[in-house]
Amino acid sequence: MVYAENVDNSQKVVERSQSHSKKKKIVVLGTGWAGTSFLKDMDISSYDVEVVSPRNYFAFTPLLPSVTCGTVEARSVVEPVRNIIKKRNGEIQFWEAECLKIDPENHKVICRSIVENLVGENDFSLEYDHLVVAVGAQVNTFDTPGVMEHCHFLKEVEDAQKIRRTVIDCFEKAVLPGLSEEERRTDLHFVIVGGGPTGVEFAAELHDFIHEDLVQLYPSVKDLVKITVIQSGDHILNTFDERISCFAESKFQRDGIEVLTGCRVVSVSEHSVNMKVKSTGEYVIVPHGMVVWSTGVGTRPFVRDFMEQIGQGKRWILATDEWLRVKGCPDVYAIGDCATVDQRKIMEDILTIFEAADTDHSGTLTIEEFQDVLEDIIIRYPQVELYLKSKHLFEVTELFKDSEGNEREEVDIEGFKSALSHVDSQMKSLPATAQVAAQQGSYLASCFNRWEKCNTNPEGPRVFGSAGRHAFLPFTYRHLGQFAPLGGSKAAAELPGDWVSMGRSTQWLWYSVYASKQVSWRTRILVVWDWTRRYIFGRDSSRI
Ligand code: FAD
Ligand code: MG
Repeated sequence: MVYAENVDNSQKVVERSQSHSKKKKIVVLGTGWAGTSFLKDMDISSYDVEVVSPRNYFAFTPLLPSVTCGTVEARSVVEPVRNIIKKRNGEIQFWEAECLKIDPENHKVICRSIVENLVGENDFSLEYDHLVVAVGAQVNTFDTPGVMEHCHFLKEVEDAQKIRRTVIDCFEKAVLPGLSEEERRTDLHFVIVGGGPTGVEFAAELHDFIHEDLVQLYPSVKDLVKITVIQSGDHILNTFDERISCFAESKFQRDGIEVLTGCRVVSVSEHSVNMKVKSTGEYVIVPHGMVVWSTGVGTRPFVRDFMEQIGQGKRWILATDEWLRVKGCPDVYAIGDCATVDQRKIMEDILTIFEAADTDHSGTLTIEEFQDVLEDIIIRYPQVELYLKSKHLFEVTELFKDSEGNEREEVDIEGFKSALSHVDSQMKSLPATAQVAAQQGSYLASCFNRWEKCNTNPEGPRVFGSAGRHAFLPFTYRHLGQFAPLGGSKAAAELPGDWVSMGRSTQWLWYSVYASKQVSWRTRILVVWDWTRRYIFGRDSSRI
């Protein structure tokens, strides 16, 4: 049936779980935001859980820009996975290894230990009943020549440590004898490609580090330092509220951080960046001492290989349904930055919904008939509610009005289609953030924890086009706001309910939120101590 929903395999899975008596095995790939939040909320008494990740720690990524300048130390923003597991009575197995291949046909993953010179085999395979892919994303250079070789990235803890060393290197190089002023200027030109939250925050941190600490240590070159942010769009922080992006731009202007908007980097070499100015088509060479590439995320190669195996080869990112199940692959779930939720369009199912709602088979729908299915529609297609809000419609019956604004008693399929025809325009994909990843991890854990219960007493919306209901409510994201620290003890924040807050008080809010979000008391104390230490002694400029 063309319009029927992709009713998936949960039924099949339940049968499998009933036919075996032993505990089902869940293999989790990754210990980032999504994987860790899954592990923390998982009821491990009902499953055997095994975790594979090439890093035996969780990294609190929002503080990585602070690590690049030593405002916070690297070890203060990481928590060993084994500490997290220990708190769960050690019933979770952890393997420090990288997944090389997912073999969905045989329910297996092939992994390789990252320990070099290992005595014995480096490769091993793990079988799973359910696989949770939470491997995040990798940097995306958009195949720009020279980026891999000459740019720094800011995705991992090691990247932040490397940036910290390179910044000091640039200063030490610039004060060596025998250099021309031009050469010193080049060494001290820090270029950031990408004006998103990470690039902007790094620029602000670097500016503070230079002006609060380094200019006193390297006074002879203090006037030669420059920071430039290159952004291809028209504004920096363009995913934030307009007020925040204006505030950031004017703050950067006052601080002397140059923002070049509408410019696309076409290549990077050891000492220069070549960019194209979109408005004029001109190419401009920008000399640099260091470049940080902070734009775009891409799919990891083994995930791409998996996508090809399951018929998602044409997509740019792995797709799941609203229950976070990988499309076209039973028993595999994907959460966090490595996947995107492919929200179902209401127009794809319009005929099935109409047939299900038209209980008297009259070929027309009365308002009462529509109201009977409305709740399920709103849960299954959340864009309906967003659409009603955007149009300031308080009653769904207003959708039934004709072009002159008169209420209609009944609509036929064509009328129904036209009433809902613009609803799908409200669909938005979720951002690649820690907030989304963590909420997806908890959601998935809660589904596994209530597997038996919800498969017997489904809590989800009805399945249009067939009898029955979905076992679980679909995943919904709750946006709790976002911060943009802008340096000089100032930050901007977008808070729930369209609130925007900017300035010094927001920086204090940032400190308290980020301290409270730490995964353990140990890291919380370390981070707060680092902030205090920086306040008393300044940042450390040793290149270790
Ligand atoms: P990750 O956290 O990246 O975790 C991926 C995990 O998979 C890691 O443990 C990795 O080791 C593991 N892995 C990788 N390859 C393999 C493999 N082959 N096999 C097994 N495991 C593998 N978001 C916010 O909401 N707020 C912020 O302020 C914010 N600031 C950020 C600042 C920076 C500098 C960066 C880089 C990101 C920031 N983000 C922020 C985004 C946020 O970090 C990501 O959205 C989030 O990390 C995604 O979580 P994840 O679990 O999908 O991936
Ligand atoms: Mg009818």
